[in-house]
This record gives sequence, C-alpha cells and structure tokens, in this order.
Amino acid sequence: MKEIILIKNGELALKGLNRRTFEDMLVKNMRRRLDSAGKFKFTVAQSTIVAEPEEGADIDEAVARIEKVFGIAAFSRAAAVEKDMEVILKSAEEYLAPQLLSVRSFKVEAKRSDKKFPLNSPEICRETGGYLLRKFPHLVVDVHNPDMVVTVEIRDTHAYIHGKQIKGAGGMPTGSAGRAAVLISGGIDSPVAAYMMAKRGLELIAIHFASPPYTSERAEQKVHSLLKQVSKYSGRITLFVVPFTEIQELIKDNCPEDIFTVIMRRMMMRVAQIIAQKENSGALITGESVGQVASQTMPAIACTDAVCEMPVFRPLIGMDKDEVVAISRKIETFDISILPYEDCCTVFTPKHPKTRPTIDYVEECEKALEVDRLVDEAVKNTRFVLINAY
Ligand code: ATP
Ligand code: MG
Repeated sequence: MKEIILIKNGELALKGLNRRTFEDMLVKNMRRRLDSAGKFKFTVAQSTIVAEPEEGADIDEAVARIEKVFGIAAFSRAAAVEKDMEVILKSAEEYLAPQLLSVRSFKVEAKRSDKKFPLNSPEICRETGGYLLRKFPHLVVDVHNPDMVVTVEIRDTHAYIHGKQIKGAGGMPTGSAGRAAVLISGGIDSPVAAYMMAKRGLELIAIHFASPPYTSERAEQKVHSLLKQVSKYSGRITLFVVPFTEIQELIKDNCPEDIFTVIMRRMMMRVAQIIAQKENSGALITGESVGQVASQTMPAIACTDAVCEMPVFRPLIGMDKDEVVAISRKIETFDISILPYEDCCTVFTPKHPKTRPTIDYVEECEKALEVDRLVDEAVKNTRFVLINAY
C-alpha cells in the first residue's frame, strides 16, 4: 500500500485567474518547497493535485511543508491502492485503524470519477461502511455529525482512501498576485505584514535598513532568521540590506528632533521604492498600524505617503497589537522578534516626537539634507542576501 498526498484547491475562489494557471503555479511552488524533502511526482486531475513520493522521499516532512503553502484549502494523506473492492476494504481497515480506533462515529463518502468501476458511489459507501462496522464494533454510523469521515475516491489509476483532512494555509499561490517589497525591521509587526501579503499571492523581496555601529551584526542576523521563518510560507526571499548610518546621523545633526522619525521614514520609502522598481516589485509593504507609535498617526503616515509613488500595503493598519502578536506566534516569528538587539529606529528615537507633522514642515526641515545624493548612495551601497528556509 502506497501513501500519497491529495491536495484540494476546489473551494478556492479563482478570481481573475483561470484554474489551469492557478494549479500550475501551485504545483511549481510545491515542487520547489518539497525539493529538499525528496522526489515527488505531481499529477493534476479534477481540481485535485496528487503528490506521490518516490523512493526515499520524506512524507512527514512533505506534509509539514505543504501545510504552509498558500493556495491550498485542505489536503489529506491517503492510501493509493488497486481499484478492487476487496483490496479497498482491507486497505481501509489497515490504513485507517489508528484513526478509527480513536473515534466513536463515522460515515463513508465515495467519489467515483471512473464510471467503469462496477459499484456506484452509494454501493461503495454501503459496502465500506458495513465492513468497517464489522471490523471495528465500537463504531456507529452517524451521517449528520460523524467524528470522522472516511473517503473512498475511485480515480483514473488508483483508488484513494483517506480519513481526516488537514487544513491548508489558504490564500493564493505565491506569485499569482505579482511581487512586492516588504520593509523589514527586527520587530514583531513587519514579519506578520510580510506573511499576510504573501498569503494574498505576492512574491516577496525584503528591504532592511541597517545602521552599524549603532545596530549590530546580530540585529541583521535576527532579520535573516525572521525572513527564513516567513519564507516557509512565502518561498525564497531576496533581502536587500541598505546602509543607513550616514542618513540617520545627518538627520540627527541637521533636523529638528521632533521630526526625526518622519524624515527617517520618508528616506526609507524613497530608497525602498527605487530598489522595489529595479526588482520588478509593484508595491511596498510595511507593518504600520494607526496610532501604535508617534510615526504612525494619520498625519505622520500622510507625510510618509507623500514621497511614495507606488502603493504602500499596510495589512496591520487596523489591528490591535494582541491580534498581531497572535499571528506572529502562529507563524513562529514572535520568539525571534522579541530578541533584544537594537534596530535603527530605537537608537535614534526622539523624546518628544511631533504627532501632527505637516508636509510643509517636513519638507522645510528636509532642505537641510542632500536628499537625492543620500538616496542614490544608499541604493548604490545596498547588498543582497538570498534567504530560503529549505
Ligand atoms: P515593527 O515591529 O515591524 O518594527 P513597529 O511597530 O516597531 O514595527 P516602526 O518601528 O515605527 O514600527 O516601523 C514601522 C514600519 O517601518 C515597520 O513595520 C517596517 O515595515 C518599517 N521599518 C522600521 N524600521 C525598519 C528598518 N530598520 N528596516 C526596514 N524597515 C523598517
Ligand atoms: Mg520597529
């Protein structure tokens, strides 16, 4: 008896994307993700993708990885057996025993896409149900609210038998919505923002502003670790590390303290959008949320947006911190985010930031800086690192 993985994308709304393109992308993403877990053969039929492990492939590892692939509503491990009723019954008994022994009620569902199979769906259900009741006398059939659904699918080459379904990561296949650049700090918010936008089908690049020696090598390593965790969902990410020390020092020496943060964020956006454009990215992503800190009031966000020519996605904009924390725990970035290393914002945080800056005031203060030269230089001195969890 061979074990395979059955991936269902049937429930997904294929808005604007035809099913074929969507499935091709999903298969491509799964192939890449499973690459280092062994060889798998993928076949697509009737809105189901079958992943069949070849010699030596690690199916437990594959399941753990598939759980994080966007574009999958649900999937299950299944036994792939010969299309013969006797074989099907014996295999169901053997393969599903651990699950059946842990429940009290069940029902059987059958799907028959091979119409040449001698039994029709109701007959398959009846035979399988009766057989399992005899083999597992503690069970009862409950068609309305069963503890477990046993599914028998008769398809082209095999019959597939499976029990409980595993919930998929949902969302849209990575890349199906294009590419965007996330501004990643070492904090809690930006990795969550990255995850949320990747879930909508965006392929990610990441941009991090580093201010050595105010920020340490370990602070950058922390960003690598965060992105590595995000890449389990989003696929590989190219990280661009921008040297930001000179810009921050010049802001500190030449601009009024109450406007530091807003000017710094405008400089970040200016640099980020040049990198994003070069890398074919159509939007920026940040972890901002209204009112969270002084630079995230509505007037401050308006000042930041004023220098942006591309859309800025802020998926956390209306969320409370505890909601963001819940997601960061779920995607396992929280424990990395709370490591103590300084990021470039905390080092230069003013004591009394303006919460209602105006664009006129910011522009006036920025006259003390050679904005274009600084931006050009920061872009020129940017280096990149490829991040991939697998
Ligand atoms: P986070 O938890 O993501 O650090 P935050 O609540 O601490 O967010 P800020 O520090 O004001 O908020 O930053 C707001 C957003 O600006 C971040 O979510 C991130 O997208 C971006 N950002 C801040 N610092 C950096 C940095 N050093 N490099 C890249 N982007 C940054
Ligand atoms: Mg921060």
